[in-house]
Amino acid sequence: LQRTLVLVKPDGVARQLTGEVLRRIEAKGYSIAALTMRHADRDLLTAHYAEHEGKPFFEPLLEFMSSGPVVAAIVEGHGVIEGFRTLAGTTNPTSAAPGSIRGDLGREWGTAVVQNLVHGSDAVESAEREIGLWFPQQ
Ligand code: ATP
Repeated sequence: LQRTLVLVKPDGVARQLTGEVLRRIEAKGYSIAALTMRHADRDLLTAHYAEHEGKPFFEPLLEFMSSGPVVAAIVEGHGVIEGFRTLAGTTNPTSAAPGSIRGDLGREWGTAVVQNLVHGSDAVESAEREIGLWFPQQ
């Protein structure tokens, strides 16, 4: 069985969309294996977004991601890594397909960083690495 790390980012938590995101995950048939709310610090976010260090949106991304609490979940299911990314929709909410979380609920705010409600791991290795960061005991 595959697992992935899902984050409801600070914009999703602030807009009270945590339940809506979890509802869509469960309605699809995936299981929530662990769930926590956390105000992420810089160290955790730098490790989480290591691949983006040096990019122009890196600092705004860390600022945004530390601007409020984040809900982190380990989600399990067959093909859940690709499956959750399909549920989430593409990075930019303006072009994300209707029916997806970002397409239905995401908004363009004209901020330096794309505030797109959720994160989902993009591969088996990154899922395991990210789960280790957010759930050190798992
Ligand atoms: P995530 O990893 O959060 O699921 P993703 O895989 O769609 O999203 P990545 O390319 O990994 O996107 O970028 C991580 C996050 O950084 C994005 O979700 C978005 O919040 C922000 N981001 C990415 N590219 C840009 C950009 N060009 N301008 C502003 N923000 C960006």
